Amino acid sequence: MDWIRGHTIGRGSSAAVSAAKSRFSGEVFAVKSVELSKSQLLQKEQKILSELISPYIVRYKGYDVTKEKDKLMFNIRMEYMPDGTLSDEIRKQSGRMNEPLIGYYTKQMVQGLEYLHSRGVAHCDIKGQNILLGETGAKIADFGCARWIDPAERGGDAEAIGGTPMFMAPEVARGEEQGCAADIWGLGCTIIEMATGGSPWNNATNAASLLYKIAFSEQSPEIPKFLSSQARDFLNKCLKRNSKERWTAKQLLKHPFLESNSTAIQDFVTSSPTSILDQDIWNSESTILQTVSCPVQRVRELISNSGELNCRWNDDERWMTVRIKS
Ligand code: ATP
Repeated sequence: MDWIRGHTIGRGSSAAVSAAKSRFSGEVFAVKSVELSKSQLLQKEQKILSELISPYIVRYKGYDVTKEKDKLMFNIRMEYMPDGTLSDEIRKQSGRMNEPLIGYYTKQMVQGLEYLHSRGVAHCDIKGQNILLGETGAKIADFGCARWIDPAERGGDAEAIGGTPMFMAPEVARGEEQGCAADIWGLGCTIIEMATGGSPWNNATNAASLLYKIAFSEQSPEIPKFLSSQARDFLNKCLKRNSKERWTAKQLLKHPFLESNSTAIQDFVTSSPTSILDQDIWNSESTILQTVSCPVQRVRELISNSGELNCRWNDDERWMTVRIKS
Protein backbone atom coordinates (compact mmCIF):
# COMPACT_ATOMS: atom_id res chain seq x y z
CA MET A 1 0.00 0.00 0.00
CA ASP A 2 1.64 3.26 -1.07
CA TRP A 3 -0.52 5.37 1.21
CA ILE A 4 -1.41 5.38 4.92
CA ARG A 5 -5.03 5.44 6.08
CA GLY A 6 -5.70 8.11 8.73
CA HIS A 7 -8.75 8.91 10.83
CA THR A 8 -12.31 8.48 9.59
CA ILE A 9 -13.71 11.77 8.30
CA GLY A 10 -17.22 10.68 7.54
CA ARG A 11 -19.39 7.65 7.25
CA GLY A 12 -22.23 7.52 4.77
CA SER A 13 -24.68 4.78 4.04
CA SER A 14 -22.56 3.16 1.40
CA ALA A 15 -18.98 3.73 2.47
CA ALA A 16 -16.57 5.24 4.98
CA VAL A 17 -14.36 8.20 4.12
CA SER A 18 -10.93 8.53 5.73
CA ALA A 19 -8.09 11.00 5.54
CA ALA A 20 -5.00 9.45 3.95
CA LYS A 21 -1.39 10.34 3.20
CA SER A 22 0.90 9.26 0.39
CA ARG A 23 4.00 7.39 1.63
CA PHE A 24 6.08 8.97 -1.13
CA SER A 25 4.97 12.55 -1.54
CA GLY A 26 3.31 13.12 1.83
CA GLU A 27 0.27 14.45 -0.03
CA VAL A 28 -2.94 14.33 2.02
CA PHE A 29 -6.12 13.14 0.31
CA ALA A 30 -9.49 11.56 1.15
CA VAL A 31 -10.28 7.88 0.55
CA LYS A 32 -13.79 6.53 0.21
CA SER A 33 -13.71 2.80 0.92
CA VAL A 34 -15.90 -0.24 1.12
CA GLU A 35 -15.26 -3.99 1.14
CA LEU A 36 -14.55 -5.16 -2.38
CA SER A 37 -17.35 -7.73 -2.25
CA LYS A 38 -19.87 -4.94 -1.52
CA SER A 39 -18.36 -2.32 -3.79
CA GLN A 40 -20.69 -2.41 -6.79
CA LEU A 41 -22.10 1.06 -6.10
CA LEU A 42 -18.72 2.56 -5.24
CA GLN A 43 -17.29 1.16 -8.46
CA LYS A 44 -20.07 2.85 -10.40
CA GLU A 45 -19.31 6.08 -8.53
CA GLN A 46 -15.63 5.67 -9.46
CA LYS A 47 -16.45 5.27 -13.15
CA ILE A 48 -18.48 8.46 -13.20
CA LEU A 49 -16.17 10.56 -11.01
CA SER A 50 -13.10 9.51 -13.02
CA GLU A 51 -14.53 11.23 -16.08
CA LEU A 52 -15.10 14.57 -14.40
CA ILE A 53 -12.67 17.44 -14.08
CA SER A 54 -14.01 20.77 -12.87
CA PRO A 55 -13.11 23.30 -10.18
CA TYR A 56 -16.66 22.77 -8.88
CA ILE A 57 -16.54 18.97 -8.57
CA VAL A 58 -14.47 17.17 -5.93
CA ARG A 59 -11.31 16.07 -7.75
CA TYR A 60 -10.82 12.35 -8.46
CA LYS A 61 -7.30 11.02 -7.83
CA GLY A 62 -7.54 7.35 -8.72
CA TYR A 63 -8.71 4.07 -7.24
CA ASP A 64 -7.13 0.91 -5.87
CA VAL A 65 -7.82 -2.32 -4.01
CA THR A 66 -6.01 -2.85 -0.71
CA LYS A 67 -5.82 -5.66 1.82
CA GLU A 68 -6.46 -4.41 5.33
CA LYS A 69 -7.02 -6.70 8.33
CA ASP A 70 -7.51 -9.64 5.96
CA LYS A 71 -10.22 -7.78 4.04
CA LEU A 72 -10.02 -6.61 0.47
CA MET A 73 -11.11 -2.98 0.27
CA PHE A 74 -12.09 -0.97 -2.81
CA ASN A 75 -10.94 2.64 -2.47
CA ILE A 76 -11.55 5.85 -4.39
CA ARG A 77 -8.96 8.55 -3.78
CA MET A 78 -10.15 12.15 -3.92
CA GLU A 79 -8.91 15.59 -3.04
CA TYR A 80 -9.35 16.30 0.65
CA MET A 81 -11.91 19.01 1.37
CA PRO A 82 -10.92 20.44 4.76
CA ASP A 83 -13.90 22.59 5.66
CA GLY A 84 -16.70 20.04 5.99
CA THR A 85 -20.06 20.06 4.28
CA LEU A 86 -22.33 22.94 3.33
CA SER A 87 -24.74 21.68 6.01
CA ASP A 88 -21.95 22.06 8.61
CA GLU A 89 -21.39 25.60 7.39
CA ILE A 90 -25.09 26.42 7.69
CA ARG A 91 -24.96 25.41 11.34
CA LYS A 92 -21.84 27.48 11.88
CA GLN A 93 -23.70 30.47 10.48
CA SER A 94 -26.33 29.88 13.21
CA GLY A 95 -28.67 28.14 10.79
CA ARG A 96 -29.17 31.10 8.52
CA MET A 97 -26.70 32.31 5.93
CA ASN A 98 -26.69 35.85 4.68
CA GLU A 99 -27.86 36.32 1.12
CA PRO A 100 -24.49 37.20 -0.47
CA LEU A 101 -23.03 33.99 0.97
CA ILE A 102 -26.01 32.01 -0.30
CA GLY A 103 -25.44 33.56 -3.73
CA TYR A 104 -21.74 32.73 -3.60
CA TYR A 105 -22.24 29.03 -2.88
CA THR A 106 -25.24 28.81 -5.19
CA LYS A 107 -23.21 30.14 -8.11
CA GLN A 108 -20.53 27.49 -7.54
CA MET A 109 -23.12 24.73 -7.30
CA VAL A 110 -24.77 25.89 -10.53
CA GLN A 111 -21.38 26.04 -12.25
CA GLY A 112 -20.75 22.47 -11.06
CA LEU A 113 -24.17 21.33 -12.25
CA GLU A 114 -23.78 23.05 -15.60
CA TYR A 115 -20.51 21.18 -16.15
CA LEU A 116 -21.98 17.87 -14.93
CA HIS A 117 -25.05 18.12 -17.12
CA SER A 118 -22.96 19.12 -20.16
CA ARG A 119 -21.01 15.85 -19.61
CA GLY A 120 -24.23 13.84 -19.62
CA VAL A 121 -24.32 13.13 -15.88
CA ALA A 122 -27.12 13.81 -13.40
CA HIS A 123 -26.03 13.85 -9.73
CA CYS A 124 -29.41 12.78 -8.32
CA ASP A 125 -28.68 13.62 -4.66
CA ILE A 126 -28.01 17.36 -4.46
CA LYS A 127 -28.28 18.57 -0.84
CA GLY A 128 -26.13 20.50 1.61
CA GLN A 129 -24.59 17.34 2.99
CA ASN A 130 -23.18 16.43 -0.43
CA ILE A 131 -21.55 19.81 -1.06
CA LEU A 132 -18.04 19.99 0.36
CA LEU A 133 -16.18 23.17 1.24
CA GLY A 134 -12.52 24.08 0.90
CA GLU A 135 -10.25 27.00 0.13
CA THR A 136 -11.91 27.83 -3.17
CA GLY A 137 -15.46 27.45 -1.88
CA ALA A 138 -18.00 24.74 -2.70
CA LYS A 139 -17.62 21.56 -4.74
CA ILE A 140 -20.17 18.88 -5.56
CA ALA A 141 -19.34 15.48 -4.00
CA ASP A 142 -20.85 12.03 -3.36
CA PHE A 143 -21.66 10.58 -6.75
CA GLY A 144 -23.18 7.48 -5.17
CA CYS A 145 -26.58 8.14 -6.78
CA ALA A 146 -25.22 9.75 -9.99
CA ARG A 147 -26.25 8.36 -13.36
CA TRP A 148 -25.59 8.83 -17.03
CA ILE A 149 -28.47 10.77 -18.53
CA ASP A 150 -28.49 8.47 -21.54
CA PRO A 151 -27.28 5.06 -20.30
CA ALA A 152 -27.88 3.48 -23.72
CA GLU A 153 -25.07 5.63 -25.11
CA ARG A 154 -22.73 3.95 -22.63
CA GLY A 155 -24.01 0.49 -23.49
CA GLY A 156 -25.57 0.22 -20.02
CA ASP A 157 -28.98 -0.73 -18.70
CA ALA A 158 -31.60 1.67 -17.45
CA GLU A 159 -30.13 3.38 -14.41
CA ALA A 160 -31.23 3.18 -10.80
CA ILE A 161 -33.45 5.87 -9.33
CA GLY A 162 -32.37 7.26 -5.99
CA GLY A 163 -31.83 10.26 -3.79
CA THR A 164 -33.01 11.78 -0.53
CA PRO A 165 -36.79 12.05 -0.17
CA MET A 166 -36.70 15.52 1.43
CA PHE A 167 -34.87 16.87 -1.64
CA MET A 168 -36.62 14.72 -4.23
CA ALA A 169 -38.28 16.32 -7.23
CA PRO A 170 -41.96 15.47 -7.88
CA GLU A 171 -41.20 13.50 -11.05
CA VAL A 172 -38.64 11.40 -9.13
CA ALA A 173 -41.02 10.73 -6.24
CA ARG A 174 -43.56 9.57 -8.82
CA GLY A 175 -40.92 7.33 -10.44
CA GLU A 176 -41.29 8.93 -13.85
CA GLU A 177 -37.79 10.21 -14.55
CA GLN A 178 -34.62 11.41 -12.86
CA GLY A 179 -32.42 13.73 -14.84
CA CYS A 180 -30.84 17.16 -14.82
CA ALA A 181 -34.08 18.93 -13.89
CA ALA A 182 -34.25 16.91 -10.65
CA ASP A 183 -30.79 18.26 -9.72
CA ILE A 184 -32.12 21.80 -10.16
CA TRP A 185 -35.00 21.00 -7.80
CA GLY A 186 -32.42 19.67 -5.29
CA LEU A 187 -30.49 22.92 -5.73
CA GLY A 188 -33.63 24.91 -4.89
CA CYS A 189 -34.15 22.82 -1.74
CA THR A 190 -30.48 23.36 -0.78
CA ILE A 191 -30.89 27.14 -1.14
CA ILE A 192 -33.83 26.96 1.28
CA GLU A 193 -31.59 24.91 3.61
CA MET A 194 -29.00 27.73 3.45
CA ALA A 195 -31.56 30.50 3.95
CA THR A 196 -33.51 28.97 6.82
CA GLY A 197 -31.32 26.26 8.34
CA GLY A 198 -34.43 24.12 8.09
CA SER A 199 -35.76 21.55 5.73
CA PRO A 200 -37.44 22.53 2.46
CA TRP A 201 -40.73 21.00 3.60
CA ASN A 202 -41.17 22.36 7.10
CA ASN A 203 -44.52 20.85 8.04
CA ALA A 204 -43.62 17.27 7.20
CA THR A 205 -44.62 15.07 10.10
CA ASN A 206 -43.97 11.67 8.59
CA ALA A 207 -42.49 10.00 5.54
CA ALA A 208 -45.82 8.96 4.08
CA SER A 209 -47.37 12.39 3.95
CA LEU A 210 -44.12 14.03 2.82
CA LEU A 211 -43.55 11.71 -0.13
CA TYR A 212 -47.20 11.83 -1.10
CA LYS A 213 -47.16 15.64 -0.96
CA ILE A 214 -44.00 15.87 -3.09
CA ALA A 215 -45.33 13.39 -5.63
CA PHE A 216 -48.95 14.40 -6.00
CA SER A 217 -49.79 17.78 -4.47
CA GLU A 218 -49.73 21.10 -6.29
CA GLN A 219 -47.25 22.50 -3.79
CA SER A 220 -43.57 23.41 -3.98
CA PRO A 221 -41.42 24.16 -0.90
CA GLU A 222 -42.21 27.57 0.56
CA ILE A 223 -39.88 30.29 -0.69
CA PRO A 224 -38.65 32.38 2.29
CA LYS A 225 -40.26 35.83 2.17
CA PHE A 226 -37.25 37.58 3.70
CA LEU A 227 -35.09 36.88 0.63
CA SER A 228 -34.64 39.58 -2.02
CA SER A 229 -36.96 39.52 -5.02
CA GLN A 230 -34.06 38.34 -7.22
CA ALA A 231 -33.33 35.42 -4.91
CA ARG A 232 -37.03 34.52 -4.69
CA ASP A 233 -37.36 34.64 -8.46
CA PHE A 234 -34.30 32.40 -8.80
CA LEU A 235 -35.79 29.88 -6.36
CA ASN A 236 -39.07 30.00 -8.19
CA LYS A 237 -37.29 28.97 -11.40
CA CYS A 238 -35.66 26.01 -9.58
CA LEU A 239 -38.81 24.80 -7.85
CA LYS A 240 -41.26 24.56 -10.74
CA ARG A 241 -43.18 21.35 -10.18
CA ASN A 242 -43.24 20.71 -13.91
CA SER A 243 -39.69 19.60 -14.75
CA LYS A 244 -40.02 20.99 -18.28
CA GLU A 245 -40.62 24.48 -16.90
CA ARG A 246 -37.66 24.37 -14.52
CA TRP A 247 -34.67 26.42 -15.66
CA THR A 248 -31.51 24.61 -16.69
CA ALA A 249 -28.16 25.23 -14.99
CA LYS A 250 -27.05 27.12 -18.09
CA GLN A 251 -30.07 29.43 -17.91
CA LEU A 252 -29.65 29.92 -14.16
CA LEU A 253 -26.06 31.12 -14.61
CA LYS A 254 -27.50 34.12 -16.46
CA HIS A 255 -30.08 34.88 -13.77
CA PRO A 256 -29.56 38.31 -12.13
CA PHE A 257 -29.30 36.67 -8.70
CA LEU A 258 -26.07 34.95 -9.78
CA GLU A 259 -24.80 37.70 -12.01
CA SER A 260 -24.73 40.02 -9.01
CA ASN A 261 -22.93 37.44 -6.86
CA SER A 262 -19.30 37.31 -7.86
CA THR A 263 -17.58 38.65 -4.75
CA ALA A 264 -14.86 36.58 -3.07
CA ILE A 265 -15.81 34.25 -0.25
CA GLN A 266 -13.64 36.06 2.31
CA ASP A 267 -16.14 38.92 2.27
CA PHE A 268 -18.90 36.67 3.57
CA VAL A 269 -17.52 33.91 5.75
CA THR A 270 -17.61 35.15 9.28
CA SER A 271 -16.68 32.11 11.35
CA SER A 272 -13.67 29.82 11.21
CA PRO A 273 -14.17 26.21 10.12
CA THR A 274 -15.09 23.61 12.72
CA SER A 275 -14.20 19.93 12.77
CA ILE A 276 -14.75 17.86 9.67
CA LEU A 277 -15.98 15.15 12.01
CA ASP A 278 -18.87 17.33 13.07
CA GLN A 279 -21.41 16.56 10.40
CA ASP A 280 -24.54 14.87 11.59
CA ILE A 281 -27.12 17.26 10.18
CA TRP A 282 -29.51 15.21 8.06
CA ASN A 283 -27.39 12.09 8.24
CA SER A 284 -28.22 9.84 5.37
CA GLU A 285 -28.58 6.13 5.05
CA SER A 286 -29.36 4.24 1.92
CA THR A 287 -31.25 1.26 0.70
CA ILE A 288 -31.84 -0.63 -2.50
CA LEU A 289 -35.45 -0.87 -3.52
CA GLN A 290 -37.22 -2.84 -6.17
CA THR A 291 -38.60 -0.76 -8.99
CA VAL A 292 -42.35 -0.56 -9.15
CA SER A 293 -44.25 0.90 -12.02
CA CYS A 294 -47.16 2.46 -10.12
CA PRO A 295 -46.29 5.81 -8.52
CA VAL A 296 -48.48 5.26 -5.44
CA GLN A 297 -46.88 1.85 -4.95
CA ARG A 298 -43.45 3.48 -5.32
CA VAL A 299 -44.21 5.96 -2.57
CA ARG A 300 -45.45 3.11 -0.35
CA GLU A 301 -42.27 1.16 -1.01
CA LEU A 302 -40.05 4.12 -0.26
CA ILE A 303 -41.85 4.55 3.04
CA SER A 304 -41.80 0.90 4.08
CA ASN A 305 -38.09 0.56 3.29
CA SER A 306 -37.25 3.60 5.34
CA GLY A 307 -39.01 1.90 8.25
CA GLU A 308 -36.82 -1.18 7.87
CA LEU A 309 -33.78 1.00 8.20
CA ASN A 310 -35.02 2.61 11.40
CA CYS A 311 -34.83 5.98 9.72
CA ARG A 312 -35.64 8.67 12.27
CA TRP A 313 -38.11 10.72 10.32
CA ASN A 314 -39.10 12.83 13.28
CA ASP A 315 -35.76 13.00 15.04
CA ASP A 316 -33.97 16.27 14.43
CA GLU A 317 -34.83 16.28 10.75
CA ARG A 318 -32.53 13.45 9.67
CA TRP A 319 -33.28 12.19 6.22
CA MET A 320 -32.08 9.29 4.20
CA THR A 321 -30.69 8.53 0.82
CA VAL A 322 -32.72 5.98 -1.07
CA ARG A 323 -31.41 3.99 -3.98
CA ILE A 324 -33.79 2.15 -6.22
CA LYS A 325 -32.38 -0.55 -8.46
CA SER A 326 -34.00 -1.11 -11.80
P1 ATP B 1 -24.50 8.93 1.57
O1 ATP B 1 -25.05 8.10 2.67
O2 ATP B 1 -24.93 10.38 1.65
O3 ATP B 1 -24.69 8.34 0.22
P2 ATP B 1 -21.78 8.17 1.22
O4 ATP B 1 -21.62 6.84 1.89
O5 ATP B 1 -21.94 8.14 -0.25
O6 ATP B 1 -22.94 9.00 1.88
P3 ATP B 1 -20.14 10.54 1.18
O7 ATP B 1 -21.34 11.43 1.27
O8 ATP B 1 -19.41 10.54 -0.12
O9 ATP B 1 -20.50 9.04 1.60
O10 ATP B 1 -19.13 10.89 2.33
C1 ATP B 1 -19.50 10.83 3.70
C2 ATP B 1 -18.91 12.02 4.42
O11 ATP B 1 -17.48 11.98 4.33
C3 ATP B 1 -19.30 13.37 3.82
O12 ATP B 1 -20.50 13.85 4.35
C4 ATP B 1 -18.12 14.25 4.19
O13 ATP B 1 -18.27 14.75 5.49
C5 ATP B 1 -16.95 13.28 4.19
N1 ATP B 1 -16.22 13.38 2.92
C6 ATP B 1 -16.52 12.76 1.76
N2 ATP B 1 -15.65 13.05 0.80
C7 ATP B 1 -14.75 13.90 1.35
C8 ATP B 1 -13.59 14.61 0.84
N3 ATP B 1 -13.20 14.46 -0.42
N4 ATP B 1 -12.94 15.43 1.68
C9 ATP B 1 -13.34 15.57 2.97
N5 ATP B 1 -14.41 14.95 3.49
C10 ATP B 1 -15.11 14.12 2.70
